[in-house]
Amino acid sequence: MDVETLRRAARLGADTALRPERFGALAYDFGTRRLSFVRRRSQARGALNEEFERGLDAPICLTWELTYACNLACVHCLSSSGRRDPRELTTQEAKAVIDELERMQVFYVNIGGGEPTVRKDFWELVEYATAHHVGVKFSTNGSRIDAHRAQWLRGNDYVDVQISLDGATAQVNDAVRGEGSYDTAIRAMEHLKGTGFKLSVVITRENVAQLDDFKAIADHFGAQLRLTRLRPSGRGADVWDTLHPTQQQQRIVYEWLLEHGQQVLTGDSFFHLAAYGQTLPGLNLCGAGRVVCLIDPVGDVYACPFAIHETFLAGNIREAGFAHVWRESDLFRELREPQAAGACSSCGMYDACRGGCMAAKFFTGLPLAGPDPECVLGHGEDALATATPRKSSVDHSIRRRAMVPVTVVERPCNESPV
Ligand code: SF4
Ligand code: SF4
Repeated sequence: MDVETLRRAARLGADTALRPERFGALAYDFGTRRLSFVRRRSQARGALNEEFERGLDAPICLTWELTYACNLACVHCLSSSGRRDPRELTTQEAKAVIDELERMQVFYVNIGGGEPTVRKDFWELVEYATAHHVGVKFSTNGSRIDAHRAQWLRGNDYVDVQISLDGATAQVNDAVRGEGSYDTAIRAMEHLKGTGFKLSVVITRENVAQLDDFKAIADHFGAQLRLTRLRPSGRGADVWDTLHPTQQQQRIVYEWLLEHGQQVLTGDSFFHLAAYGQTLPGLNLCGAGRVVCLIDPVGDVYACPFAIHETFLAGNIREAGFAHVWRESDLFRELREPQAAGACSSCGMYDACRGGCMAAKFFTGLPLAGPDPECVLGHGEDALATATPRKSSVDHSIRRRAMVPVTVVERPCNESPV
């Protein structure tokens, strides 16, 4: 059955893009941002997760960090951003990437950094992407979202904005993201009110008690709340011990998500919590190299945005293009093979939890075949006692720091990042 026959059979409108896949097709509605799956009758059996684990023709969730430059210096930055890297992709190279994503039918990209809006060609690249049928979701600290830009975004159907905020109060937020960053984010949200933007929160030990407050802030601005797990990646490794939620708090997050999960986006952040008993909404597997990957500012392709380390480096788009890396790299082929459960194989919750997050295990020094450091049964904590944490192999921090107590208010960096 060809794609157009599938489109008719599934009664999909003309605004829905269809991408052929082994099991049928992936359908993405650019209006509702809804992703769905059209399966051939002959392949209607079997879980979609299994199909995902074998990898897709192109990523569903492609993160593209446009620059390592940033005007803040968040203590948990997953990419250790700060200074621009002189090797960053040029405007022409970035446009060539977009052309390739269009050919591969990557429906949208999650653009981040660094702070992507500090790139002089940022808005030009956003316009180029949407003109080439690649939707854009970009994450920002809000510092460059003024009334004029908000108005532009309001009129652009294919661009979604995500404002980062890690505390529902300035005190909690600014301890992580820097002094003044709470006010900056709130000002941006005021401009964006009613545009349906997303409010993105990394859950930490300091803000678990504020989950209801984050929801209230999102509701007040007509935004959708997105919660992300803190991973020990980038500078997150320096603060993971002090900031990652305690065992008791993980249970609170789980209960909260059970109650609100349908209204909150979580990506693949919390599938390890399924080991408490119920599966939560979201992607319930590690998609690294299978449905997820990262293009970093210099064109390196990693298995996942939280795995910036040479171990997870699949190739560089400057060599043979992104499609080649995605489809041919040895690393991605390996990740699409069935993974060993190791010490988790005897756990009754393995089918739900899948051993948790590869990046969290790697950077805390745990074996990839084995429990997540935040295993809800406590097996991760036991294993951590003898583990040696690893550091990301890339660091563009402006000021290197030792572990920062969360009560210390960090000043935003005032050096030019570009
Ligand atoms: S390594 Fe962790 S963050 Fe990356 S895709 Fe897997 S589960 Fe998600
Ligand atoms: S032992 Fe492994 S599979 Fe079981 S809950 Fe812990 S991380 Fe998940």
